[in-house]
Amino acid sequence: MEVMYQSTRSNGAKVTASQAILKGLAEDGGLFVPTCIPKLDTSLEDIAAMDYKETAYRVMKQFLTDFTEEELRDCINRAYDEKFDTKEIAPLVEKNGVYYLELFHGATIAFKDMALSILPHLMTTSAKKNKITNQIVILTATSGDTGKAALAGFADVEGTSIIVFYPKNGVSAIQERQMVTQKGKNTSVIGITGNFDDAQSGVKAMFHNKELAKAMDSKGCQFSSANSINIGRLVPQVVYYVYSYTRLLGQGAVAPGEPVNFVVPTGNFGNILAAFYAKNMGVPIGKLICASNENKVLYDFFNTGVYDKNRRFILTSSPSMDILVSSNLERLIYKITGEDAKKTSDMMAALASTGQYSLTEDMRAQMEDFIGGWAGEEKTAAEIKRVYETAGYVLDPHTAVASAVYHDYQLKSDDAAKTVIASTASPYKFAASVMTAIDKKYEGMDDFALIDALSKTSGTKIPDAVEEIRSAPVLHDTVCETADMQKVVEQILGL
Ligand SMILES: *Cc1c(COP(=O)(O)O)cnc(C)c1O
Repeated sequence: MEVMYQSTRSNGAKVTASQAILKGLAEDGGLFVPTCIPKLDTSLEDIAAMDYKETAYRVMKQFLTDFTEEELRDCINRAYDEKFDTKEIAPLVEKNGVYYLELFHGATIAFKDMALSILPHLMTTSAKKNKITNQIVILTATSGDTGKAALAGFADVEGTSIIVFYPKNGVSAIQERQMVTQKGKNTSVIGITGNFDDAQSGVKAMFHNKELAKAMDSKGCQFSSANSINIGRLVPQVVYYVYSYTRLLGQGAVAPGEPVNFVVPTGNFGNILAAFYAKNMGVPIGKLICASNENKVLYDFFNTGVYDKNRRFILTSSPSMDILVSSNLERLIYKITGEDAKKTSDMMAALASTGQYSLTEDMRAQMEDFIGGWAGEEKTAAEIKRVYETAGYVLDPHTAVASAVYHDYQLKSDDAAKTVIASTASPYKFAASVMTAIDKKYEGMDDFALIDALSKTSGTKIPDAVEEIRSAPVLHDTVCETADMQKVVEQILGL
């Protein structure tokens, strides 16, 4: 059965998966969603015996139905190769009776690699399938990790170029260094004086600008998005939920049909939405625990039914979760309105004009699988220390938020289900926060000295991704005002 995609904001023409990947965002500003979430057609017991690539194929073919088997397998083979430092791709490790699903073994040591190592291949394949000859210009706003993962994925990929905007004062030192040292003649990296939401709004405005699109077309190029709103990001993320569940099944840690909870440190709501899709595909997932940092819009949303972004934006030690408008939540909203594009569109319009919207009781009843939790800065640091001292395992601050939220949940509930925590970044990416959480004596130490200390403390090897940037030259140093983002893009594209 062919799965088609439609906008969350209108019941207009449906598009194929490859067209949805190319467009990124629907023309009416909505997000593409599958007309129905497909069921797995391979049993979980069978998948338990398959490796990551085969699992990826079994999951993704259900969504990307206009790709041939050869095309899809080719994309998968190019993505999940030696760029990952382990054959398992996403290892599941048990510490203190909880499972950490390590999603940070790719080229940029954060979970964004799981999808961004395959997106360029899905996109160039989609362009070929749709006879697009324009150059694809990837335009991306990043809160830190997407930018580098997208740059690494698209660098020197023929037929594409990539422009990344990041908040100049809103990412970690290592994150910034990773981006500004990016090689590749088709890459541009620009810091903006605003925060991540400003960057994201600026990018969205450019996507919606019809005049800009026209000017670009006459120059032989067109935008696409590598942000987590692209369905080509979401689908590859469903894979590791299926994979981790089937690893537990294969080890006999869970019996067939036994539910497993997932805890996901959340920002734009893409990662946890993929878990929700996995559940809808037929994976026995119990609770979906959505963990926020001090920017706890989602925690309030799940607890009150009101989404309210009117609040102070707080910079935390988990910058990839410093987000007040979680774009992918729109896909959940669409689902709980009974796939009502008009209602979804009205709610998004309310969000744009007043900064908030409210759910009806009916909608709330459909979100019972979700639990919201949050952890502040002190609690997050204490969790890093606790897990280090009890298990000798070092968490990055994002994973620590999720781990702290789950620790609280365990103390308060009698839910004994096995639980997997999505471990979204390597601690090496946030060495300063991590090491000072373990011991205050590290405060103020130089970044690379901290990295050496982290290696000693954790007994782990420094990832190549970190070694490489120690001495790499800075290749990008443009900084602009939020208001000038479009001007900068026009300059880069020669418009
Ligand atoms: C992007 C990111 C998140 C948030 O994921 P979303 O899909 O945006 O909810 C969490 N942790 C890390 C390390 C990330 O890079």
